[in-house]
Amino acid sequence: MSLVEAREPFALDVLDTGLPEAAYERVAPTPVQAPELLRLNRPLAAELGLDAGALASPAGVEVLAGSRVPEGVSPLAMAYAGHQFGNWVPSLGDGRAVLLGEVVDRAGVRRDLQLKGAGRTPFSRMGDGRAALGPVLREYVVSEGMAGLGIPTTRALAMVTTGERVFRQRAEPGAVLTRVSASHVRVGTFEYFARRGDRETVRALADYVIQRHYPHLAEAGAPYQALFEAIAERTGELIAQWMLVGFIHGVMNTDNIAISGETIDYGPCAFMDGYHPDTVYSSIDLGGRYAYNQQPPIGQWNLARLAECLLPLFSEDEEQAMDIAYAGLDAYARRFDEVYQQGLIAKIGLSERREGDVDLASDLLGCMAEQRADFTLTFRRLADVAGGHAEADEPVRALFGDATAFDGWVARWRERLAAETRDDGARRAAMRAVNPAYIPRNHRVQQVIDAAEAGDMAPLDELLTVVARPYDDHEALADYARPPAPDEVVRQTFCGT
Ligand code: AMP
Ligand code: MG
Repeated sequence: MSLVEAREPFALDVLDTGLPEAAYERVAPTPVQAPELLRLNRPLAAELGLDAGALASPAGVEVLAGSRVPEGVSPLAMAYAGHQFGNWVPSLGDGRAVLLGEVVDRAGVRRDLQLKGAGRTPFSRMGDGRAALGPVLREYVVSEGMAGLGIPTTRALAMVTTGERVFRQRAEPGAVLTRVSASHVRVGTFEYFARRGDRETVRALADYVIQRHYPHLAEAGAPYQALFEAIAERTGELIAQWMLVGFIHGVMNTDNIAISGETIDYGPCAFMDGYHPDTVYSSIDLGGRYAYNQQPPIGQWNLARLAECLLPLFSEDEEQAMDIAYAGLDAYARRFDEVYQQGLIAKIGLSERREGDVDLASDLLGCMAEQRADFTLTFRRLADVAGGHAEADEPVRALFGDATAFDGWVARWRERLAAETRDDGARRAAMRAVNPAYIPRNHRVQQVIDAAEAGDMAPLDELLTVVARPYDDHEALADYARPPAPDEVVRQTFCGT
């Protein structure tokens, strides 16, 4: 392709946003020196109805790098505020991301297309507006892993390197991630306007969210009450699903909580290896505010901040508005418990819920915590021994340094299994369908980053292969299911922004 052809306008079927105007500033991405496509997520491009060939062309790569804005596209940065580690921060906003617009995917769902690391915006404050390759790779792999697990999440459409360096602790290669999400409205978006006393924009934002994510509520008698309850329930479902796969988000600030119920903002996130409820990986989470077992109450705390924004929409009567807020927070807790408890007993292979089942599953977690047994493998291997007898338990026992308590637990579990009507084969299949073999383990993500920085993309491809289908066996890549060896353990993760 000649240079002239490469300069032809690049078509991208993107719709302008329907967001309230106060919620954003128009700003173009800043061109980069030497964009190179590192990965294009072709299945996702197809899902979005985008032409993968065009995206991978030189003109397409320029768009994905922010070096070219396609005709008819008017990018923007969104305003938001947030509570960071509990502290109110009145102005955050997209400091290093621009929204290209919205696409309607093959299923008819509207999705956002955003470039992360696209240069400075009016919200950049002291930041450079850029992203380093390491965090971009981490977000790509972990968000695709989350999607593979079947958990709502933003997706990664593409990664490009910029040919520029960004300066963090050291000079690092720069990169841009194309993020796809149901929308980028966050709890912090509501907070930004509510705390400024801009009730009109809060209402317009709520109407936008109803129309986009909860259209069936538009006709509800009390649409804002119904909206809050729906958001609360989706958030409860999401956090329950994180807990069931050992995911620790790491920065559950209100600006990182999406109204759509998708996982968003993969910073110092991690999947737990050895199980312990107090586990924290993030280097900046000194008090353990966002530890694994703190996620359910923090989810509710964040929703309480959202409720504060919506109180005037709930009712003019303050007391009544508060009652509505509390009812929504209760709905969160109820939904969380439902999904978590049901998920937990499914993980140990029970199909007919009986009294004591949740306690039985919790007792297994207790044994695991004592021995720091690997969270993922304990459940996965349990699927294979369910139908067996004591001698067959070795693969699971081996995950416990001292298996005495676990042995006692298995005996109780087998007794309970005897009361199930489902046969062993069906139980094993059902357990394997909810207990993944592969998660994006921290040491593997680190290996992918180290290799990519040295120009080797093979580990990235291998890790993506297993985490995209985490419930299957991948015999040639079975080593990716292995927990880290002592010298591979990653104890801390960094946001690297
Ligand atoms: P995060 O911790 O990634 O959720 O980001 C918190 C806030 O910092 C958001 O408003 C980001 O837009 C902003 N931010 C993070 N990194 C940068 C950067 N390199 N340049 C400008 N703003 C940034
Ligand atoms: Mg964020």
